[in-house]
Amino acid sequence: MFAYRRPRRAAVRRLLRLAARSGNDAVRVLLSVDFEDWHQLVRRRVGAAGWSRPGPALERQTAALLALLDELGARATFFVLGMAARSHPALVEAIAARGHEIACHGDQHLPVHSQTPGQFAEDLRAARATIERLTGSRPLGYRAPAFSIGEASRWAHDVLAAEGFAYDASMHDSPRIRGRIPATGARPHALQLERGGSLWELPVAVWRVGSARIPVGGASYWSVLPTALVLRGLASAGPMAGLYLHPHELDPLPLNASVGSDAAVATRVHARLRALQRNAARRRAPSVLRAIAGRYRTITYGEAYAQLSAGGDTRS
Ligand SMILES: [Zn+2]
Repeated sequence: MFAYRRPRRAAVRRLLRLAARSGNDAVRVLLSVDFEDWHQLVRRRVGAAGWSRPGPALERQTAALLALLDELGARATFFVLGMAARSHPALVEAIAARGHEIACHGDQHLPVHSQTPGQFAEDLRAARATIERLTGSRPLGYRAPAFSIGEASRWAHDVLAAEGFAYDASMHDSPRIRGRIPATGARPHALQLERGGSLWELPVAVWRVGSARIPVGGASYWSVLPTALVLRGLASAGPMAGLYLHPHELDPLPLNASVGSDAAVATRVHARLRALQRNAARRRAPSVLRAIAGRYRTITYGEAYAQLSAGGDTRS
């Protein structure tokens, strides 16, 4: 599934020369976490029995993540998956109590383009009801599972606005995302909606070098990108550079989907492969995040939205 190829050595050397040049001090990094239970999702994906049973991993992952954010003095936006929140309500309450922004990642982690507008609205409402029950506040922002608002599902923006969301953070101009909406630019921008209303789009950071697209904003890519490249790429992708990670990327222990010894061989192999891919990113995430926070000012998506909707310029 994770198939981003390691850049060739000559290309890395060329990019590192660029990286040595000065960055942009005005860049702000929009820090976010897609809050979901990796074990729950991977077990569902490989067809494991009892996949929805909550495991202990998300608790230790969240503890590690919150400790790192405290160490960095950073607040983040947590795009919370409704299904994970119902399995781990105390974790969502703890995240909100620390002052992090709680936004919405949908309820069932189904691709938006696989749903009808009505089903999408229902999924949003289910997640929002869970989030409001646990935190007492209404989420302003949304991020689609796997950035799945594509060219054929632009209608989702109208549904989000109609459901009262103020911003979307699903645009990711990564070569890995098929059917994606061609980026109209790296900057946050107001979307033109067919049915009126307004919605801000706050894209994930992508470094454009010629015709190449380097997705520096996703922690899942950091396993194949040198830290200096990520830092340089964020400077180019800014001035408001969206960044996302997942709790499993902060897990202090290796990921293991534990599908059970009675599972079919294909299920066990599939689960093992997914764990191998994710463990590579897991080893790099804390050090890269420390480097980013040491270099750039981090803010939440909600703070960025507040500045933008008040007429703030993304360049300052
Ligand atoms: Zn997700």
